[in-house]
Amino acid sequence: MSFKTLDDLTELAGKRALVRVDINVPMQDGRVTDATRIERVAPTIEELSGKGAKVILLAHFGRPKGKVVAEMSLKPVAAAVEEVLDHRVHFATLDEAEAAISKMADGDVLLLENTRFEPGEEKNDSDLASRYASLGDLYVNDAFSAAHRAHASTEGLAHKLPAYAGRTMQTELEALQKGLGDPKRPVVAIVGGAKVSTKIDLLTNLVKKVDAVVVGGGMANTFLAANGTDVQASLCEAELGQTAREIEAEAEKAGCSVVLPVDAVVAGEFKAGAPSDTVAVDAVPEGQMILDAGPQSVEKVKSWIEQANTLIWNGPLGAFEIEPFDAATVAAARYAAERTRAGELISVAGGGDTVAALNHAGVAGDFTYVSTAGGAFLEWMEGKTLPGVKALEDGGKG
Ligand code: ADP
Ligand code: MG
Repeated sequence: MSFKTLDDLTELAGKRALVRVDINVPMQDGRVTDATRIERVAPTIEELSGKGAKVILLAHFGRPKGKVVAEMSLKPVAAAVEEVLDHRVHFATLDEAEAAISKMADGDVLLLENTRFEPGEEKNDSDLASRYASLGDLYVNDAFSAAHRAHASTEGLAHKLPAYAGRTMQTELEALQKGLGDPKRPVVAIVGGAKVSTKIDLLTNLVKKVDAVVVGGGMANTFLAANGTDVQASLCEAELGQTAREIEAEAEKAGCSVVLPVDAVVAGEFKAGAPSDTVAVDAVPEGQMILDAGPQSVEKVKSWIEQANTLIWNGPLGAFEIEPFDAATVAAARYAAERTRAGELISVAGGGDTVAALNHAGVAGDFTYVSTAGGAFLEWMEGKTLPGVKALEDGGKG
């Protein structure tokens, strides 16, 4: 993987830098309730501005589908960016952009209105990309989480100007490269969560690339059932039995171990504090459901983590949102964190619920890298080409 970064940029003074960021932040009553995404891109903006560039931010917000929708204006977000940066942030629509940019001083920051107000944005329209390009001298993409979309501001524009990865994009790509691109072996993946159906591509790709896949959470039930275990009232996609067996066959061919739970914590209902029991996976009482991996399974997962030099994690091992069914996920997460802190493990995790689970376990900060990129993270782990990243690898025009 090779792409240009801000290190390749010299002589920035007076240059107009078009910077694609993801500041699709949660808002309530016109106020930003969580500025994490803004904080993530702040270093890139500050670095460019500090070197005298005129920084022009491109970003989407919500799904206005090519129309101007007043509630999806980025204008209120400009104020939040201003707070995080401690730097004045100007705002303009695309029609006002040229005039606004001509008034910018070196180091100024301007946020342009929601890119998805433009009908050509999601169609990756070449004329729109050219129109964006006419506003800048160079392009920086710092929005990894939008890189699985080939849109005018995430892909098309990268072919019209010299293109660079911003610092957040660079960090994410380098971490993912360590996790799956060129990892230190053995590599163990934990794939958990609710359903096999959402993770078929992920499992299929991982079994070819890693040394062991620990299958956990609700999706383990589908694998157990495919091998003849009666999982009773557990979440289970019986129709995917054949798919599960195919994934196991692929794994065997590739020399990858598929690790399934041997015991489980079961309950009569999906509810916090529901009376629970620990049983062997082939002894789930009638009408009960598996809501977490049992202690023997946790020991097994820990021994796989112990042998690994690299760990990739997507999906919790149980219904971690409701106690006490968070126990396996928390124990495995804390063990991975401990080995990471000791310098013995590279740990890369991602996925909405996975991030929540690691936060719940209090160890998100101890992992080597935790991706908040959602869909883009999954597509990367599925081995797919991300158009926004590919365009940077092609180096842009210049
Ligand atoms: P991510 O968002 O990290 O990709 P998923 O969305 O695939 O993860 O999975 C998370 C969900 O899986 C959680 O809501 C959790 O409750 C559910 N889950 C895990 N184990 C079980 C189980 N045994 N039964 C039912 N749901 C489960
Ligand atoms: Mg989820």
